[in-house]
Amino acid sequence: MSEKYDVIIIGSGPAGYVSAIRAAQLGLKTACIEKWKDADGKGVNGGTCLNVGCIPSKTLLDSSFKYHEAKEELGIHGISTSGVKIDIAAMLERKNKIIKQFTGGIAGLFKANGVTGLYGTGKLLNGKQVELTDNDGNVTVLDADNVILASGSLPIAIPVAPVDGDLIVDSTGALEIGEVPKRLGVIGAGVIGLELGSVWNRLGSEVVLLEAMEDFLAIMDKGIAKESKKIFTKQGLDIRLGARVTGTEIKGREVHVTYVMTDGSEKSEIFDKLIVCVGRRPFTEGLLAAESGVQLDERGSIFVNEQCATNVPGVYAIGDLVRGPMLAHKGSEEGVMVAEVIAGHKAQMNYDIVPNVIYTHPEVASVGQTEEQVKAAGEPYNVGSFPFAAIGRAVAANDTDGMVKIIAHADTDRILGCHIVGPSAADLVQQVAIAMEFGSSAEDLGMTVFSHPTLSEAVHEAALAVNGAAIHMPNRKRR
Ligand code: FAD
Ligand code: AMP
Repeated sequence: MSEKYDVIIIGSGPAGYVSAIRAAQLGLKTACIEKWKDADGKGVNGGTCLNVGCIPSKTLLDSSFKYHEAKEELGIHGISTSGVKIDIAAMLERKNKIIKQFTGGIAGLFKANGVTGLYGTGKLLNGKQVELTDNDGNVTVLDADNVILASGSLPIAIPVAPVDGDLIVDSTGALEIGEVPKRLGVIGAGVIGLELGSVWNRLGSEVVLLEAMEDFLAIMDKGIAKESKKIFTKQGLDIRLGARVTGTEIKGREVHVTYVMTDGSEKSEIFDKLIVCVGRRPFTEGLLAAESGVQLDERGSIFVNEQCATNVPGVYAIGDLVRGPMLAHKGSEEGVMVAEVIAGHKAQMNYDIVPNVIYTHPEVASVGQTEEQVKAAGEPYNVGSFPFAAIGRAVAANDTDGMVKIIAHADTDRILGCHIVGPSAADLVQQVAIAMEFGSSAEDLGMTVFSHPTLSEAVHEAALAVNGAAIHMPNRKRR
């Protein structure tokens, strides 16, 4: 008879591996199954995030930004550079080394915490049994008291732009482009499209983003989205809104793309490379045997309640596989919550305070409700904004694009949302996320002492501005 586990987790992305570590910390006998293989065919943990997502994309964003800075931005500091060159192969090799470092790190964490890491494909049978097909094709059936499904997501494919891995690539292929394309097309001006478009724009490509929607960054606060578009356009990203791609054709080494504008007019463009970034979908192929009884929702996600329990007792699902934003940290927190629930603890996750970041330069970051959401809910509110152009540290760094916007309830002053486009927006928004988690008012944040000179003073001033008390800017009359 096979060993019995307290918990078996299928998938070792940021949702699954974090859940496995937390479960083992809580004394549960835990196994985590992963089917990802590296270029040498060796089993590897970390999922999308570490292998083809957050970490590799940020590595390329940082490399390309340093190149761009060395080439274009240092003159103002009195530093002259010439002959600055980029070695794309070295840049990609560095990225691959970092991936290896982090994916290998998970195996070390599993060992240190007593998680059994298994390489192969897991399938949920009935009665919380999991079939494991290892990478040599051997099949075993494992028993568990609880199963956590964490199989993640895949890029959405669209028939009008079939990925060939050469001239037309998805977000995974875009991390492997070996030379700077002269003209690069990107379908979808969402988070991933903007990040990958920025990488190649900085490296010298002429980048055109074709976005079907009329609204830029529709889920973001409108004011911040408008400001962001202005900044990205100034950087040279050619963002075409209301442009739905309807066809692609490969002619020689070129991709001919046709698209239809909202007014019905048909247009076309020719690119040397095309990246398709039209979103991601939950990945459930091969995960569930027919007899597992686990229900999906109408979008193909595993149907779960607030605590990530599926309709089958003892079976949970977390991360990109379930409703909510497809973000690594959202999945990790769900993983911790589920491990704690299984261990008999009271646990919950605050879905109202999940920060969201676009790692362009400047970054775009948000937490909580947008002004449009607060308005639609009919709540009375005040807004405070502050531009980085008036922040000493931002001026010293010559990094002054953008602003901080904080929204608070007009009656209670409780902070409802914070939206930032600007330098280090990701880290700044986290300060407000912490304040919100503790139920902070704008006044509380305004009364907090902030170091001078820092970028975070923009957060301080925006919080003060909510109640008409900003110091380094004339205040708008309070509503
Ligand atoms: P995944 O990371 O997709 O992991 C699922 C794992 O399950 C995979 O390793 C898969 O091989 C394995 N698996 C699937 N089926 C089986 C099976 N049957 N048996 C065994 N194993 C199985 N998010 C952020 O928060 N910040 C970012 O900056 C960010 N940048 C991104 C950039 C890019 C280019 C992309 C593509 C994504 C980015 N994301 C980012 C999103 C983030 O990567 C995902 O939200 C996150 O990886 C989801 O975690 P997960 O554990 O749910 O799934
Ligand atoms: P995200 O979900 O943030 O990664 O963004 C994906 C974007 O791709 C969305 O804004 C979609 O509107 C956009 N999109 C989807 N299909 C097409 C298409 N055929 N042409 C242009 N944009 C598209």
